[in-house]
Amino acid sequence: MSNSSPQYDVAIIGGGVSGIYSGWRLITADPSQSKTLKKWAPKKKKLKVAVFEGGDRIGGRLLSARPPGFKNTVTEIGGMRYVSSQVLVRSLVENELKLPRFEQVVDCDENIAYLRRQHLRLSELKTPSDLPYDLDWAESEFVRQNTPSALIGWAAAKLLPGVNHLTGEALGEYLRNAIVDGTPLYEHGFWNLLARTMTPEAYSIARTLVGYDCLGSNANAVDLLAEYFDFTPGVKYYLFNQGYDAVPWTLEKKFKAAGGEVIPNSWLSGFDQITLDDNTTGVILHFSDGRPSVTARSVILAMPRRSLELLKPEGPVLDPARAPHVQTLINSVEPIPLYKLFVAYAYPWWTSVGVSQGRSLTDIPIRQCFYWPVEPDGSAPSPTGNALIMAYNDLLNVDFWAGLAGAPARHHPSLPHRLKAAATPAALFARQPMPNAAAPTDDFSKLLRKNWDDHPAPKLMVEEMHRQLVQMHNVQYAPEPLEAAFMDWSADPYGGGVHFWNRGYKSWEVLEDITQPVADFPCYICGEAYSTNQTWVEGALQTAEIVLQKRLGLPAPTWITPNPPPHKTKQKK
Ligand SMILES: Cc1cc2nc3c(=O)[nH]c(=O)nc-3n(C[C@H](O)[C@H](O)[C@H](O)COP(=O)(O)OP(=O)(O)OC[C@H]3O[C@@H](n4cnc5c(N)ncnc54)[C@H](O)[C@@H]3O)c2cc1C
Repeated sequence: MSNSSPQYDVAIIGGGVSGIYSGWRLITADPSQSKTLKKWAPKKKKLKVAVFEGGDRIGGRLLSARPPGFKNTVTEIGGMRYVSSQVLVRSLVENELKLPRFEQVVDCDENIAYLRRQHLRLSELKTPSDLPYDLDWAESEFVRQNTPSALIGWAAAKLLPGVNHLTGEALGEYLRNAIVDGTPLYEHGFWNLLARTMTPEAYSIARTLVGYDCLGSNANAVDLLAEYFDFTPGVKYYLFNQGYDAVPWTLEKKFKAAGGEVIPNSWLSGFDQITLDDNTTGVILHFSDGRPSVTARSVILAMPRRSLELLKPEGPVLDPARAPHVQTLINSVEPIPLYKLFVAYAYPWWTSVGVSQGRSLTDIPIRQCFYWPVEPDGSAPSPTGNALIMAYNDLLNVDFWAGLAGAPARHHPSLPHRLKAAATPAALFARQPMPNAAAPTDDFSKLLRKNWDDHPAPKLMVEEMHRQLVQMHNVQYAPEPLEAAFMDWSADPYGGGVHFWNRGYKSWEVLEDITQPVADFPCYICGEAYSTNQTWVEGALQTAEIVLQKRLGLPAPTWITPNPPPHKTKQKK
């Protein structure tokens, strides 16, 4: 096909945060500031930019929802918080979008650690003899001064002396150049290294108390070590009063107001090269469900690995015979299954055992439960008011819960297909009336309620979750759950909630290469998956900025505060 006039200068595929952010940055840019954009929009003031999203909502892995009976809180079924050390996110939400937020309470001394059937409090974890783990002498001494979750960093530092005292660029440089036993660090698996410097018992308690099994996994040691150590004293975690989805929603509004188009329910099935009427190379995009094809000067695929794999293996980028190196780039990261379930009760029964804020941890499949703040300032719920608990886990635990979901297998061809294949209505948890429930009135509240209603949980899953919650809190009685919503992020089109770099890849190089995987062809890739801030929105914006600045020539945003104040102790999402 040749000689078409392009319908768009930039077609962005994927309305997750990286896609809508890229759209907003492009539509509000002055094309005369970039050589590439000037060519595309010589006389026009603005580019023609569209965001095509396969689902019916903008936000992707950010999914804020409000159950009935809660006026002041927003649950986060996807990403929930940002860290004060994250330059791009923090600058965007604080300086530019000015979104209301509040500090998240994290681990509290009185919270529970239910380990190997023993009910402990976090404050009791410094006494090695009380722990149901057989630590060696040095590990026990370390635990007395620190916390068992810090054993991982301590063990890693035995092989890489001094690494635990570095942060930022100094840490990155150390890790990129480190050699262990004559082999570059990026070729080592993280768990393989830990196995040499800590007992399996220490590994087991540390991984359990970090809260995320993936943080002790055998992914690329460079990137996992960076995850561990790149935090400085004073770190703070923030939740958004209106949910993390407020970020993509606000960007969507601004994007549309500036002339951008958002086209929901449009699944890209594949794309190919086309010669445009000015003899330049452009892109033709094909959609499923009979939607007409679209032509554009360029395409940005703002999506994770599994979404890329679901596209037809055709054209100059995705045909493995024409561009085998692109497959290697795509395979450089691994999706990590993540699962969240929110359960609502008529009152916070867990306060009877002295816990009300932050999170508790366990080695049973629930893994972490967060006592969700129901007031906008994050304060503990009233002892008589409706209350929420968030269960959050990863890797094998996700499969435990999938077994109770009636969803036969992962990796169905598309998300709509998967939703149809999931539990039948009869197998779903029958939501009960919440005290003080009122129908949402404004558009924003309606959207939050729709997100909640669209993610019902299976009956068996809610019953088992309730049983495990009662077990870990060691109570004789707890009232029955009234409402529940869940998401298993390993479902298509995501493949996982977040991503880790595989062993053997230099993330710092692939990160750049994949943003334009085929030289001279105007296809760009961005998103959290291929960033060096994986697992965070920060990574989605990081790679979007590489595409925008390095590939398309946009100037850096003016609202960035380069050196936010330092932060403290790391606690993962
Ligand atoms: C449970 C969980 C907890 C998390 N916690 C945090 C946290 O606390 N803080 C934090 O910063 N980050 C967190 N994250 C990570 C964060 O949510 C992601 O990094 C971020 O949302 C990813 O944005 P993205 O634009 O890269 O991709 P996505 O959000 O995955 O967006 C991709 C979009 O592309 C669409 N799409 C895919 N294929 C097609 C197609 N063929 N055609 C059209 N559209 C398509 C999808 O529908 C989706 O909307 C968490 C993630 C999860 C799942």
